[in-house]
Amino acid sequence: MKKVDEMREGIPENPWPPWVSFVTTASALPAVALGTASLWRGGRRKLPLWGGSWLALTTVSRRHICARCPYYGEYCSTLFGKLTPLMWPRSDEPLSTRGFYWDVALAPILFALAAPEAYRISKRFFLAYLAAWALFLGTLNGLGCRRCPLAMCPFNRFARVT
Ligand code: SF4
Repeated sequence: MKKVDEMREGIPENPWPPWVSFVTTASALPAVALGTASLWRGGRRKLPLWGGSWLALTTVSRRHICARCPYYGEYCSTLFGKLTPLMWPRSDEPLSTRGFYWDVALAPILFALAAPEAYRISKRFFLAYLAAWALFLGTLNGLGCRRCPLAMCPFNRFARVT
């Protein structure tokens, strides 16, 4: 297994103050709550796929991304840096753009799963659902990605390190 120093070769010191991890992670909760509420009211047969997709995003994806990340085990752009060691050991595999495709694929699926039901409840509910996703992605981008040095991430338009 590679030592942390070897993995961090050429990687900047952790750029995120710990509070960022909590704020970006908490910013996802309104989207989760409104999505779950809209499916509970109008699309219960989708709830297993909704729950399974969030589970995949918070577990399987982390094995392909955070377990390979130089910031594994640290407060980072989200709480995943701290949560991943509870699920997966550190991986020797290089962190690559392909690994991030898990998140790139799951995020729009999650948004789209509950959107029709949110719209069917009312236009106001749908706007609240849209605003909740904008809050999540805007906060993650503004606080997390803006500081993130990992240029292999497709979400990252700020970084330097490939
Ligand atoms: S910086 Fe990104 S990829 Fe690395 S552990 Fe944190 S959330 Fe995962």
